[in-house]
Amino acid sequence: MPPVIKNLSQPASNRARSPRCTLSKSVAGELVEQVIKRLKTKGFRRTEALASLLTEMARSHRPMTFAELGSLPSLAGRDQATIYRIIVKLDEAGVLRRLGFRDRAAHYQLIIPGHHHDYLVCKSCGTVAEVDVPQPLEPLEKEIAAQSGWKAVEHELEFFGVCPSCAP
Ligand SMILES: [Zn+2]
Ligand SMILES: [Zn+2]
Repeated sequence: MPPVIKNLSQPASNRARSPRCTLSKSVAGELVEQVIKRLKTKGFRRTEALASLLTEMARSHRPMTFAELGSLPSLAGRDQATIYRIIVKLDEAGVLRRLGFRDRAAHYQLIIPGHHHDYLVCKSCGTVAEVDVPQPLEPLEKEIAAQSGWKAVEHELEFFGVCPSCAP
C-alpha cells in the first residue's frame, strides 16, 4: 500500500483539501500560554506578534516558510522583519522544528508534545509534504533505548526526493 501523502505546499488553488493537523482555538490557546511561559525563562517578552505567530503555528500544525507565516491572516499586516526575527529567535530557543533541503525553502513547525509528523522534502524546489509512514517506528525506539541506555528516545523522519511538479 503506498503511503498517504498530504501535499502541503501546492498553491491553494490547485491543492486538494486533505486532512490536516489542526488545533481548536482553546487547545491552541492553552498550548501557546505554556510555550510563552517557557520562553520567558529564556528572555522572551510576551508581545502581540509573538502570541499571534505561535497561535497560527499551533492552530495549523504544519511546516511553513517565512513567506507563508508572514502572510497568515493575523500576521499579514505586521512588520515582516519583526516576524522574521521572532521566527529566528524561536528556532534558536528550540521550540521549532526546521525542515528543508539544506537552506532551500526552510520550513518551520511548532514542536507540540505528543504530535508526530513525518515529511517528504523535494530536493529541487524545497516543497514539503506530509507522509504517513506505514510501519510505526516505536518498537525501534524502544530497542534503541534498551541497547543504548538512553531515555526518551524519539525520532523525526525526513525523506528527500523530487516532487511531481519538479520531476521531468
Ligand atoms: Zn500536529
Ligand atoms: Zn519540487
